[in-house]
Amino acid sequence: MATSKFAALSQSKCPRCRVGKMFEGPVYGFKRQRMLEYCPHCGLKFEIEPGYFYAAMYVSYAFSVAEILSLGLATAFFTRSESPWTYIIVIFAAIVIFAPFNLRYSRLVLLHFLSPKVTYNPRYEKSLSENNEPNK
Ligand SMILES: [Zn+2]
Repeated sequence: MATSKFAALSQSKCPRCRVGKMFEGPVYGFKRQRMLEYCPHCGLKFEIEPGYFYAAMYVSYAFSVAEILSLGLATAFFTRSESPWTYIIVIFAAIVIFAPFNLRYSRLVLLHFLSPKVTYNPRYEKSLSENNEPNK
């Protein structure tokens, strides 16, 4: 069965085969997350061109604006605070807490949705299940 784009994105899988992992380690944890250079399954080089992930900054920026706006509005709604420090503390904490999430998902969104050069190819996904069948 083909993996959906959303499932592949949320599980941080390779955009071409949707099987290989793009990142090592969890988003949140004691071990630092690390992006792999090549897909361990289909061999796709994730950084298509040198500096390709600079473009992920724009995606990350959109993520940050959405997070800060919604948290700022939620803070205003629930605390009814007029002190700027309430907002500064909440927004600063949000920036730090969401940083690992933004790093990973901005790159994933860039490769899955905004890179016309990288397309899903079910052929790569199938070759895994065929190779695995005799071992089961
Ligand atoms: Zn792959």
